[in-house]
Order: sequence, then C-alpha cells, then structure tokens
Amino acid sequence: MPQKKVHRVAKNLGLSSAALIKLLGEIGIKVKSHMSILSEEDIKKVRAKISEGKKRVKKEFTRRYTKPKVKVKKKKIDTMAIKETVKSTFAKLEKKESRKHYKREVSVKLEPEPTEKLVEVVDFMTVAELSQALKMPTSDVIKKCLDMGLMVSLNQRLDLDTITLLCDEFEYKIKLMSAEEQITTPRDVEKVERPPVVTIMGHVDHGKTTLLDAITKLRVVEEEYGKITQRMAAYQITYNDRIITFLDTPGHEAFTAMRARGAQVTDIVILVVAADDGVMPQTVEAIDHARAAYVPIIVCINKIDLPNANVNRVKTQLAKANVIIEEFGGKSISVETSALKGVGMPDLLDAILVKAEELELEAPVEKAAKGVVIEARLDRGKGNVSTILVQEGELHKGNPFVCGPHFGRVRELFDDKMNKIDKAGPSTPVSVLGFSGLPQAGEIFLVADNEQRAREIAYQRQLMERSRKLKAKSKVTLLELQEKIKAGETKELKIVLKADSAGSVEVLDEKLNELSTEDVSIRVVHKGVGNINVSDILLAGVTGSICVGFHVGPSTNAFESAEREGVEIRTYRLIYEALDDLRSAMLGMLEPKLEEVLIGEAEVREVFNIHKLGLVAGCYVKDGRVIRNAVAHVIRDGKEVLASKVVSLKRFKEDVKEVLVGYECGVSLENAGDLQKGDTIQFYKIEEISKVNGR
Ligand code: GDP
Repeated sequence: MPQKKVHRVAKNLGLSSAALIKLLGEIGIKVKSHMSILSEEDIKKVRAKISEGKKRVKKEFTRRYTKPKVKVKKKKIDTMAIKETVKSTFAKLEKKESRKHYKREVSVKLEPEPTEKLVEVVDFMTVAELSQALKMPTSDVIKKCLDMGLMVSLNQRLDLDTITLLCDEFEYKIKLMSAEEQITTPRDVEKVERPPVVTIMGHVDHGKTTLLDAITKLRVVEEEYGKITQRMAAYQITYNDRIITFLDTPGHEAFTAMRARGAQVTDIVILVVAADDGVMPQTVEAIDHARAAYVPIIVCINKIDLPNANVNRVKTQLAKANVIIEEFGGKSISVETSALKGVGMPDLLDAILVKAEELELEAPVEKAAKGVVIEARLDRGKGNVSTILVQEGELHKGNPFVCGPHFGRVRELFDDKMNKIDKAGPSTPVSVLGFSGLPQAGEIFLVADNEQRAREIAYQRQLMERSRKLKAKSKVTLLELQEKIKAGETKELKIVLKADSAGSVEVLDEKLNELSTEDVSIRVVHKGVGNINVSDILLAGVTGSICVGFHVGPSTNAFESAEREGVEIRTYRLIYEALDDLRSAMLGMLEPKLEEVLIGEAEVREVFNIHKLGLVAGCYVKDGRVIRNAVAHVIRDGKEVLASKVVSLKRFKEDVKEVLVGYECGVSLENAGDLQKGDTIQFYKIEEISKVNGR
C-alpha cells in the first residue's frame, strides 16, 4: 500500500516528510522514517491536527490583523520625527552658512557618499587594461609597480594578488568580475523548480555499477525504450512523473575533481554500503567528500539478498561515522536494496524525490545557459563531443559559448538518448558539438552574448593558464598556513591524515585534536589507513588542507597530483616529530628547512684584479647555469677552499641575471681573497626542503 507511506501522505497533504514526521510525533504517533506505513486511523488524526492548526492560525491572523493601525501610527511618528530632525538641522545650519552649503551638509549626513572608489577587475589583467580600468595613465601604474619592486611592461599580465595590491595603493576597492559577468549581461529572472542531480558513491564492489544498471533498466522499462546503444555519463529517468538526473561517474575522484574546479554538480549523494561488508575505508572517504561539499547523503544498504547481510550492523557503523539515519533520530534517509535482484529500487527513487522536495531545488530558466562539463571525448566523426549538465538558463542550438580555455558555438545538441534536440533547461545532461578544443571534466560552460567575446575570454584564459603554470607554486603549505595564522587570516589548520594502521590514525587524530588551543584549532578533514592517494590530494586542495602521512607516503599519481594542485605532503616516522611541526606552525615558530641545490659548475680560466671590484674570475660554464646571488663553493684539487656568494655576474661588460652552460662570464664573489686559474666554482640555489623528497 504505497499510498500510505509517510512520504506519500505528506505529499497528498502538501507537507514535507520531515514536517509530517514532526507532526506525527506531536500527536504521539511514532514512525521510524518517511518510508514507514500509516494506518487510516493515523491519517485521520493527522488531518484533525492540521485542521485544528488551521483554525488556530486563522485566529492568530485575525488578531494580528487589528495591529496595523498601531504600526502605521508608529511609522507616521517616525517619519515626522525624521522630518523634524532634518528641518532643525537645516535651521541650525542656515544661521551659520550659505544655503547651498547646508544642503550639501545635510545630504552628507543623511546619505553618506561612498568614500571608497570601486574598480571592476578580472584576474590576470595587463598593465594597460588595469590603467584603463583605473582611468589613469599607464605610466602611473608602471611607476607604482617599480616602487613596489616589480619590473613590468605595458602588456604584461598581472595576477590578482598584484592587481589587488596596486588598487589598494591607488586607494581603489576592487570588485572581481566573475567569468559570467564578463560575457553576459546579468538579468534578474524568476527561478523555477528543477530535477535533482544525484551521484552514487561508496566502497569498491559494494554495488555502485550494478545499482546504476538497475536504474538504467528501470528507465528502459519505463520509457519502453528498446535499446540504448551508448550510455552517456549522465542521464535522466522519469519516475512518478518526476525527473531525476543521475551522474554515471562512480568514484570519488571525479566528484572532488569537479569541486576542485569550482563546480558543484551534485545535489544528493547516494552512499552505497554492502550489507555483508559494512562501512569500509572508501565508504568513510565518500562520507567525507560529501560532507566537505555540504551535499546530503541518502544511505543505500545494498546486497540485502545475501545470507550474511547484516543491515543493523551497517546502521550502527554508519552512526559511528557520524551518518545518523532517520530511524536513529538523524537526518539521513536510508533504504535497503538488492541492486542485483532489482529489489528496493522504488524505495530508493522515492527517497531521492523526498530529499529533493526538502532541498527545494530551483534554477532560473530565462537567461543565458550555464553548465558543467561532465565528460569530454574526441569522436572520430563528430570531433570534440562534451557532455554538459545544464545548471541554469536554457541552452539552445547555435549559442556561442566559452568553456575554460575553449570556445565555440553549439553546432548540435543531443539529449541523453542521443536524440537531436534544440534546447535544454536546468539539470538536463546534453551532448554538445562545436568545441574549439577538448575541455576537462568540471570545467564551467557559459553561453556568451556574442562569439567574439567568447573567443576573447577563451584566449585570455589560455594566457592565464600559461602564466599560472609558470607561477606554479605551492598553494597550501604548512609554512603558508603559519603565516596566515600569524596574520590572523585563519584560525584553523586543516589536515588530511593518512597512516599505516587504524591504531596510528586514532592516536594521531586524538593527539592532533589535543593541540587545538583557544586561538587556533586543528581540524582533521579526513583520516584513513593506507597511502596518500589522488583523492586525498584533491580533498586537501579544495578544503585548503595539508596532507600528513604517518609511515605512509603518496602514490606516484598522488605525488604528481600534489604538485599540480599545490598541496603540501608532510610525511613523518615519529609521532612527536609530527606533533612538534604542527604545534610550531600553530605558534608561528616553524622554521623552513633549507638546503643548497646544485645548479651549475664553472671553470676559472682567468683571474683579474679590477679596481674597486677586487678579484673577478673569468669563467666558462661547464654545466647547468650560474645565477646572480647564487651560493658559490670554490673547489681546488678536490677540496673546498672558499664558501661564498656571487655578488656580480657579467657577460662582457653587461650585468646579467643568468649565464647558461657553454658561455663565458665574469664572476665576482663576496670576500674572495684567493681565486686561481683552474679552480672550479660550484653554484647552488637555496631551496626549502620538500617534506616528501626528504622522506
Ligand atoms: P562497484 O565496484 O561498487 O561498482 O560494485 P559492482 O556494481 O561492480 O558490484 C560488485 C559485485 O557485487 C558484482 O559482482 C555484483 O554482481 C555484486 N552485487 C552488486 N549488487 C548486489 C546485490 O544487491 N546483491 C548481490 N548478491 N550481489 C551484488
């Protein structure tokens, strides 16, 4: 009798399930969840309670309705009082100064003019563009840059930090324009209800793929759609006249990779837990990822057909992992399924609809479309094909767009069954043809007002990307966090913690938490057993955490990912060492560990004694390069005879920053009392030791 389930009754009554459960509690009817069955008697009681409530509200309303008079009166007094004050201010001022001036004074008092000047900027502007935005000569901006120690040219791109600093110097407040603002004219449009977007997550082998298959089959049956030859990475099903969008991207990395690019795609996470296996490391990982994204979880306890299935054990384990299901007084809906046998599918879909209703998902439709790339591939016949999930507005065939560093015009539009369509609204996955290049999953897709603008923005982004790569620098390091703590910019040190055993994880977690003080707290965003993997790095990247490994290190992929994402990995073998480092960072006493890195070697071929400069070695660079300010070690007969620093570096008579292998140069060293022909000079750069390399 599905019509008697709590959520069905709630729907009939026009209430949310949560509201109905609360109401049932008030009249003494206990239910476990939105799936619980209600008797006719119960429903009658509910109706009675509601009508009683309605009467009360009506009464209340009538009572309140008599109040406006008082309000109006009060309002009148207020306006009168204001008028009086203004009048008396005028009068007072009139006695002293000319009328023209009073007016200005009064208006200043009533509506203070903004003193801060505002400038609209985008990240990575050229000096010329910034000057134009600030309405000042480029020479002023260049001069300010020089004052700040920055050598810039007219067409040099400045990063957002520098732009902010410069605007600050010129006493401008900045307003950072989003990509959307740059390519479309914003309009206020009404929002309408949209379907939920669901992602399935969970431990390997717990049945994510089988569940998605079962859902697809359902879609085949429902739509009497004979054969789906190609499944898209996202698709929709219609259930009880409502649409649900599924993202067919099991795997937490895909989920977090999208977030790392700033795309929040999922509204609801289905957490699949096998009833015979229970909560496993990737289950916990999935919970952490969903939490970090503030996405609600629906628990799907799968494989209930197995003889060793133990649903209660799973529920208790989940509670320990802080996922409290409705039955235990929490907020997470839980359903029991056998994906293999197709059992419990309607319950799961009902649960999704209930949650979606609670979330009140909506999006504007009458505006330029905005979406996210779910996947992209190169098709032999069609060229670049991307699956886009439309999130806002309506995407039309022929729309010009920009997507990351790519642009294009929607040449063809297909729905999830590869039917050609002309338009698509929010929460709809579509295949789009017409991209200039292959975008990455998670990239934001934006329809532009015109193609020219889309092309310009894409080109700017390509330049930005190049500069960023050149600048690739650690985004989150313990030292940087220390600086932020010192500057009061953050009060939290976030950590993704991995260790070799559950015991170590628990001990470290406990000890780390003990380090928290009133001023700075330590928050372990995710903890787990095993090597640091890509998923850990991505999570650390988006949450601004550092990765701490105890007796474990990063996998090769994770190491590369950390470099790319700019996440610091710190590995330790002794607990006290880890605690010391983190405590020092919190107290602002962490010292960078530095080391000399060999960058080049030169042979001294001649020594000159030059007036004022002293000894200058005429060198030939045999290996690597020589740079100004490098640390220099002079080696004679295999022994170091001098440790010094390069104070001047010349090619012919020109001062230079760097001389590469195969060239001759003149090097003078600090306090070089003795240099001889035939000496070898080794040049070093000072670098902070990477904790990972130092492992
Ligand atoms: P994934 O790694 O989470 O995608 O898991 P799969 O969907 O690939 O499933 C792993 C294994 O569990 C497969 O052999 C499935 O047939 C099996 N399986 C999935 N769901 C169920 C279920 O409800 N009952 C049983 N008995 N087996 C299942």
